[in-house]
Amino acid sequence: MSIQAISNHAAQGTLEIVLAGGARRTLTHAALRASCRCADCTALRRAGTPLQADHAIRLLAIEPVGAYGVQLFFSDRHDRGIYPWIYLEQLSAAPAPLP
Ligand SMILES: [Zn+2]
Repeated sequence: MSIQAISNHAAQGTLEIVLAGGARRTLTHAALRASCRCADCTALRRAGTPLQADHAIRLLAIEPVGAYGVQLFFSDRHDRGIYPWIYLEQLSAAPAPLP
């Protein structure tokens, strides 16, 4: 994994990612929520319903999942998403979603 650290900035609604080498990237909580890959969210996406996450959504807690990634707990009570490190890195490399 090339993610060295993550830190949650709840007030700004962003998750900061520090990559190996020190590069810093920022993901919004709303973008993370919209990118959830749990079975429910994946089914919605496959059904053609893009996930819309309110910008007021906040990431409340982050739990490690072994060495694999993290489980994210959101303020809309959605907590089923597991985010592998590589997925977080990929998300952070994507262009920012439109407001
Ligand atoms: Zn989900």
